Amino acid sequence: MTQYPSLHMVIDGERVSGGGRRTFDVVNPVTGETLAELPLADPADLDRALEVAQRGYKIWRYTPAAQRAAVLHKAAALIRERADDLARVATMEEGKPVGETRMECMASAGWFDFAAGECQRIYGRELVRPVGQRSTVRWEPVGPIAAFAPWNFPLGNPSRKLGAAVAAGCSIILKSAEETPASALGILQCLYDAGLPKEVAQAVFGVPDEVSRHLLGSPIIKKLSFTGSTVVGKHLAKLAADNMIRTTMELGGHGPVLVFDDADMEKVLATAAPGKTRNAGQVCVSPTRFIVQENVFGKFRDGMAERLGATKVGDGLDPETQMGPMANPRRPDAMEKFVANAKSKGAKVNTGGERIGNQGYFFQPTVLSEIPLDAEVMNEEPFGPLALINPYASEEQMIAEANRLPYGLAGYAWTNDVQRQRRLADEVQVGMMGLNTHMIAGPDAPFQGVQWSGHGSEDGPEGVKACMVVKAIHEA
Ligand code: NAD
Repeated sequence: MTQYPSLHMVIDGERVSGGGRRTFDVVNPVTGETLAELPLADPADLDRALEVAQRGYKIWRYTPAAQRAAVLHKAAALIRERADDLARVATMEEGKPVGETRMECMASAGWFDFAAGECQRIYGRELVRPVGQRSTVRWEPVGPIAAFAPWNFPLGNPSRKLGAAVAAGCSIILKSAEETPASALGILQCLYDAGLPKEVAQAVFGVPDEVSRHLLGSPIIKKLSFTGSTVVGKHLAKLAADNMIRTTMELGGHGPVLVFDDADMEKVLATAAPGKTRNAGQVCVSPTRFIVQENVFGKFRDGMAERLGATKVGDGLDPETQMGPMANPRRPDAMEKFVANAKSKGAKVNTGGERIGNQGYFFQPTVLSEIPLDAEVMNEEPFGPLALINPYASEEQMIAEANRLPYGLAGYAWTNDVQRQRRLADEVQVGMMGLNTHMIAGPDAPFQGVQWSGHGSEDGPEGVKACMVVKAIHEA
């Protein structure tokens, strides 16, 4: 039986807690009960972590790529070995079903393995010069990284950031979400047990604004990697600008899904419904705005309402559960407000729309339809199990709706017309496009948004390169 662990920070390889530090209560979203107390960093902790990260960078940047790769492959193997425990702990603190946290373990191991391979394929080039002269171009690790990972993928978000940084030869100070610290600590432990020098990766927790101001105010930090909301991303980008710190920003989305009348409706529904309830909709690439051709609108709306209404909601540790609670009390509060606002504007509620019970943070999988475009939920990321379904007359109108918002993370389209697929791939403004699929991520594929959904990539060769800078060297 997996026990929720006691919590600490990791600075210079030491477990840091107590000492009169402030604490944060980590809560089980099924019951609202406290699982454990998390120590929060004070300025001296952060200064120490910065000094260690500076040392870590000096050690790791000159460690041969094959050695860095060996650590990552070993850590990936340990994640797979420990997947049962890691998954259960992640479910305890975040709420999603244990099948989903298990898949997150496998994805995390996959990212480590891919980054390990990739760091051995970072090639420079030699330029053509007159006899006796040399000019070369090479890639170097950017330097110590400050990484901020949110709670929605408690294992995956830290793994993406740690894997790319370690592969590239950087050191990293990770501040994962205070709501889900044990998952991040479990991944970090796999890296240590695989032989990563303690100076290379550290974990701190704290009051987010204090930690980000402190780390980004230091000349030691050379890159910021942030995943979270667009509002916070904009704030951090401004802080980073003061020290001209490079940034990778994975921010919010408002996933458009264009459904055409020539699509295989059974397949669309069988993909879209579990896609919507995955992690209770708390996924940046969640399918959100269903933009449906009007002659199949009724069929799609009713099919979604039937499937979402039949979703088994419960404790994520129960193997029968298809959707767990939301991760924190802010989310069901936000869902209630979105639904009330949409109803007040005239939207229809086809299923769900309410909290479940009075314990924990459960909310019903919900279908809203015929929602006026000035409803809040049509403009702000719901980040919850709300499917928003509206009818449209033409492809042109559907593309215009997909591009209406300043977000551009993932977009999806269902059509069997190949020419139309190509037009959509050209015209829909997103960083990732799924055509007849909702699988838009993988260790070898870059993951990114455009516009307010951020910039820079994680995963794929691009994710490792995002932790590096290029240098040209000219010899006469
Ligand atoms: P939030 O905007 O307060 O926080 C989002 C994340 O940013 C959290 O992990 C938080 O710890 C971190 N954060 C907040 N302020 C910070 C600061 N000053 N410095 C560093 N990190 C900071 O909101 P929330 O209630 O935790 O989440 C709600 C919204 O966040 C959602 O509606 C969604 O839009 C967005 N979100 C996006 C993702 C994603 O994968 N892109 C993940 C989680 C949350």
